[in-house]
Amino acid sequence: MTGNAARIQAVQNITNRQPTATTFPEPLSSLWASDVFTLAKMKESLPKEVFKSVKKTIETGAELDVSVADVVAAAMKDWALSKGALYYAHVFYPLTNATAEKHDGFISVQSDGSVISEFGGKVLVQGEPDGSSFPNGGIRSTFEARGYTAWDVTSPAFIMNTDNGSTLCIPTVFVSWTGEALDKKTPLLRSISAMNKAATRVLSLLGNKDIAPVNSSCGAEQEYFLVDANFVNSRPDLLLSGRTLLGASPAKGQQFDDHYFGAIPERIQIYMQDVEEQLYRLGIPAKTRHNEVAPGQFEIAPFHEAANVATDHQQLIMTILKNTAKKHGLVCLLHEKPFKGINGSGKHVNWSVGNATQGNLLDPGHTPHSNTQFLLFCGAVIRGVHKYGPLLRAVIASASNDHRLGANEAPPAIMSVYLGSQLDNVFEQISQGKITGSLNAGIMDLGISTLPTFNKDAGDRNRTSPFAFTGNRFEFRAVGSGQSVAGPLVSMNTMLADSLNWVADSIEAELTKGTDLDSAILATLKEIIDTHGAVVFGGNGYSAEWHKMAVEERGLANLKTAADALPVLKEKYIEELFDKLGVLSPVELASRFEIYAEQYILAIEVEAKLVVSMVKTGIYPAAVKYLAELSSTLSSLKSNGIDLDAGRLTVISAGLNTLTATIEKLSAAIAQHDFETVEDHMQFCAKTIRPLMDEARVYADSLETEISDELWPFPTYQEMLFIK
Ligand code: ADP
Ligand code: MG
Repeated sequence: MTGNAARIQAVQNITNRQPTATTFPEPLSSLWASDVFTLAKMKESLPKEVFKSVKKTIETGAELDVSVADVVAAAMKDWALSKGALYYAHVFYPLTNATAEKHDGFISVQSDGSVISEFGGKVLVQGEPDGSSFPNGGIRSTFEARGYTAWDVTSPAFIMNTDNGSTLCIPTVFVSWTGEALDKKTPLLRSISAMNKAATRVLSLLGNKDIAPVNSSCGAEQEYFLVDANFVNSRPDLLLSGRTLLGASPAKGQQFDDHYFGAIPERIQIYMQDVEEQLYRLGIPAKTRHNEVAPGQFEIAPFHEAANVATDHQQLIMTILKNTAKKHGLVCLLHEKPFKGINGSGKHVNWSVGNATQGNLLDPGHTPHSNTQFLLFCGAVIRGVHKYGPLLRAVIASASNDHRLGANEAPPAIMSVYLGSQLDNVFEQISQGKITGSLNAGIMDLGISTLPTFNKDAGDRNRTSPFAFTGNRFEFRAVGSGQSVAGPLVSMNTMLADSLNWVADSIEAELTKGTDLDSAILATLKEIIDTHGAVVFGGNGYSAEWHKMAVEERGLANLKTAADALPVLKEKYIEELFDKLGVLSPVELASRFEIYAEQYILAIEVEAKLVVSMVKTGIYPAAVKYLAELSSTLSSLKSNGIDLDAGRLTVISAGLNTLTATIEKLSAAIAQHDFETVEDHMQFCAKTIRPLMDEARVYADSLETEISDELWPFPTYQEMLFIK
């Protein structure tokens, strides 16, 4: 198809599309966790002793008794067969943001040629996918390909249903033959354990006797775009890189603010219900859905869960959002910035820590000033973000998230903590050395007699902060929409573990000096806020004043691009942090730098190549054709005595020449490959390739507004964002 024929056909396909029938989901009680091998199902099917042993491992992190594996495997298999599964898969999370699975049949051929279904404890507990095709960042040579998956008992097994059949999925960790973590799950579990130990130390010092294991909770708000598949299929950039690398802004974007929280379009609501039904079957507590700010942008947020389970569930949410979109003729884009000029997508990671005995340790209650337990945990977070802010920046660094951070719609790349006025005031008092009280949140009287007055929250929200306290949790708002939440959770748990150990050391040291407990706590808190208070900021994080003040007066890092941020993973103090707490060995950490740096470089190279090819094979031919048509029309008109201004010929040809010249420069830049270090290569991508792509885009987008729409080869912003 030439010119805009593909576009016209796409629009027709969409307009004439038969709506997917609305289905009314089954009641929640019959849907809920029906595809999960829950504790309740284990209790029904396992002998009492075996069940008790597995439950203990799940709830307290006690070591798994391997002798129970055979019994659990048999029960799991029977349940899976009853759900129609013929295969099982160890599911793991390699160092991309993807989910990996290797399927094996339950089938076992007997000597007489008959078959039985077989699934023993050994294969439940351990699998051996060929690890050589997953990124390992130099941990192994390719010939040492062995990688092992090991059953993660803390996350329940489930059935994944697709149109092609059902599979029993077993969450696992993925390690190399030499025992190094090759995945995102292993360090997460280790970080939870380190944080648990440190938190327990602090809780004991505060006089608590009965202390259940402490875990972190995560509730991740997921933003995404939906675009009709007909359009995506004719846009090489969306298809291969997940974002539009070219495309002029439409006359109408998001300036009317008419999409946010607007009525959800019918087609989208049917899609959302389909997604939610699948999530409920998998025991994933989808809780809110709404339109987001940009046209075509939406959000889903589940209720929060323990970090290890929430992480698996978050991966499943991303998978199901994408797979279900295909069924509805849509493409779900999880890229952080699919469209220029309108908001990008993030993933707000709400994070708190707590346990079954002391509850949420980040809940201030009504009078935070007298809640020393809360103040110590909150203070520990403040210290953590101050000391390890660059790490938080590094774990969310990617080529795609660079488009959001600091782009005046998402939080800046400077890591600071927003506390809200009430807590700001309490910490101010601590710094003065004397705590007197908590500012009252107050009552809001709306002046409407029929409406009751209601209590205000003690702190407002601050959309411009990357790390905001929101009542009983912190919200890490700078995480990218397509990223796994594991990296952020690992770094938050680890920095908190380090800080809580420091808190415990500090209190113990004071107590040894003969100080009473209250004064020891106050002294510890005072030292935290005096040393680390510079990271607390309640103002406008988008403002130029903050960017200057943060760096020049407060000494905070402003790591603008992933090329600036990723090398933080190589810093000595980061290596020591992870090593000391047993979360990542130096070799494991180094491998992560290698892998993320490579992914950054590859992402930008793919994009740059796409820009070159779309311009050369799509835009250039269209522009030349238009010029040829225009000039021959103008001269034939002229020979008939009609003299039209030929200025447009000059404008368009000049634009095309500049575009061509930029594309030549970009091609030459892509070809460059001799760099001393990976860091140099990343900087080259950030400082040379990306700006050339941006420059090419300016010229290409301006041609889009100049030449005949009939010839334009790619679906336009207007079509992609507004036709559903
Ligand atoms: P908002 O848009 O106001 O930030 P949402 O309701 O969209 O709020 O999302 C809030 C998210 O925070 C939900 O996923 C919710 O479960 C989660 N959340 C609430 N309390 C906690 C907590 N204590 N720890 C972790 N996550 C929490
Ligand atoms: Mg939020």
